[in-house]
Parts: sequence; C-alpha cells; structure tokens
Amino acid sequence: MEIVVIISLVIGILLLNRPVTVLCQRLYTRHQFKRFIARETFYHSVISRHFRYYNRLGLEEQRKFLFRTYLFQHAKNFHYIEVEPSAEMPILVSAAAVQLTFGLEKFKLNYFDDIFILRDDYHYGYYSRPFMGHVDQTGIYLSWDNFIKGISGQTANCNVGLHEMAHALAYVNFVTQTEEDKHFKKEFPNFSKVARPIFTSMQQGEPRAKNLLGDYAATNYHEFWAVAVEVFFESPVAFRHEMPDLYEAMACVLNQDPLNFIAGNTTIIRRPVATKAKISEKAKITANTPTTAKEVSKTA
Ligand SMILES: [Zn+2]
Repeated sequence: MEIVVIISLVIGILLLNRPVTVLCQRLYTRHQFKRFIARETFYHSVISRHFRYYNRLGLEEQRKFLFRTYLFQHAKNFHYIEVEPSAEMPILVSAAAVQLTFGLEKFKLNYFDDIFILRDDYHYGYYSRPFMGHVDQTGIYLSWDNFIKGISGQTANCNVGLHEMAHALAYVNFVTQTEEDKHFKKEFPNFSKVARPIFTSMQQGEPRAKNLLGDYAATNYHEFWAVAVEVFFESPVAFRHEMPDLYEAMACVLNQDPLNFIAGNTTIIRRPVATKAKISEKAKITANTPTTAKEVSKTA
C-alpha cells in the first residue's frame, strides 16, 4: 500500500512539475512587468536617444524591446572599472544584447551573470594588443568609450556592444549550452554553409579574399561571426549588396532583417510567408547539418 502511495506521489510530482514551473514563471514575469511599467518612460528616453534601431520599430516591438532590456539588465550584475557609473550604462549595454537577440526566443545570455564596463581600451592576459571588449567564462567585458562610439555610429562597421554580445550568444548556445535557442541552433549550420567558404577564402585564399568584413574577420571563425553581426546591423545595405547570400543567412539565423524598414515594413522580425516557408522546408531536407559545436567552442 505504501509503495502505491509513494509511486503515485512521484508520478504526481513529475506530472505537475512542468505546469507549476510555467505558472511560476508567468507570475514572476507579470510581477516584473508591473515594475517595468513604472520605469518604461525612463527606459524609452535613454534608448531612443542612442538606438536608431529602436526608433525604427513599431510601438508594439518598442515595448517588447524595452521590457526585454529591463529583464536583461535585472538578470545581471554590472561592475564598473575606472569609470563613473551612470543609470544609462546598464540600460544601453542591455539594449545592445536585446538588439542582437530580438528575433529569438531566448535573450538573457543566462550563463553570464556579470558584465564589466571599463573606461577605454585595456590589456588582457598576455596579449600585447589592447582590447575593446572580450567574453570569457567570468563575464562580458566592454570598454565604455568604444561602446558609445559604436552605438552612435562614429566608427564605420564597428560596434563593440554587438560584437561581444555575438560572442556571448554563441557561447551560451554552443559552449555552455545553458540557454539554447531552438531557432538559432537549427539555423546556425545553414549560416555556416554560406559563411565557412567565405571565411576560408579570406584566411587561405591566394590571394586572400578581401571584402566588407575586413581583415579582422579572418582572424578565426569566432571573430568572423562577431564581425559579420556588427556589419549586418551597421551597414545592412552595403552588406546585402556585396554579400547577398551571407546577408540572407544572417537574417535567417537571427530571425530579423534590418532592411525590412527600408522595404516599408514596420517590423524587424521576419515573419514566414507561404513561399519562403516552402523554400526553407526544402532547404531543411537537402541541407547536410554538420555539427557547429567546434566552430564556436572558444571565444575571445
Ligand atoms: Zn571578438
């Protein structure tokens, strides 16, 4: 009799585990949303001053962007090194992550609890070259002066915030596998099918191939990915013109298209249409899907 009770209890716990977790998450998100509403105007004022990307979004997407920024920021510990902290800093850094992952379901880059903001270029490890930012197992590091230059468009094709968040996104999906986004993981092999040959021609070609991404993208495949993300958002017109297949592959893997606005659309998220859905179905069947775990197994 006791065994029957115990087995029933175990089955009951197993069956209820998932619904209870989902319910708790919903209640927590609702609670967070109430707190966010009180701060929404401030978040809007900060982000709208710096993010052209945000200003192009429709009202519904803007609110989603602000709430995600709020959630991201409150899931992290921000540390300031030799730089005067301001209320804007964590919001803007969080917004860079939200921009990158806006088309994805998972956006918290949850392996990383700590984000370090440094004043300007810094030295790291044994590297002689100064760093603008990097990602390692201890956190995400960004230099504030370079970050601001990046989001204000002062440096062509260079946005250190997006660059480091791109490393972090690959890290949580492929290295720690702590926050795997189904869409991103499914599409990454298709991205690599287009990207790998371009990267190889930049690294090993005779002569080495030159393109919009620049020489730094040829350093290794991790840098190729992070630089391609920067250029995708910073110079989408030139990117699609010069490398249309890579542009399309990037839009697919991130599930968003910065050029949607130019086409007169009010949303940046890619919505599957009938013909496209059929094409991607066909591509799925014919694509060989090599593992990408090694391709992004390290990040710097
Ligand atoms: Zn990098």
